[in-house]
Amino acid sequence: MPRRPRSTPKPDPKAGPDALMAWYVEQRREPDPRIDADVSRSCTRKQQYASADDAHAHALMNGMGDVLYEYECRYCGFWHLTKRPT
Ligand SMILES: [Zn+2]
Repeated sequence: MPRRPRSTPKPDPKAGPDALMAWYVEQRREPDPRIDADVSRSCTRKQQYASADDAHAHALMNGMGDVLYEYECRYCGFWHLTKRPT
């Protein structure tokens, strides 16, 4: 597992768009190619789901309920499916 990004936690949505924008600017100040690669691998290529139930339902529909498990993405905040570790 890659280490967690050394960044401040994303502000609560209730904090408003200004706080969110400030957070994004803060994130961009220290570009980390490994995080970019991670994001493109997980967020760009994988389906994004709004919740764990949503992700799990899609796995079940595809007959992959035993193979895939859902996890909350620390980059985009959505849920993705990944293969269950053996
Ligand atoms: Zn993601």
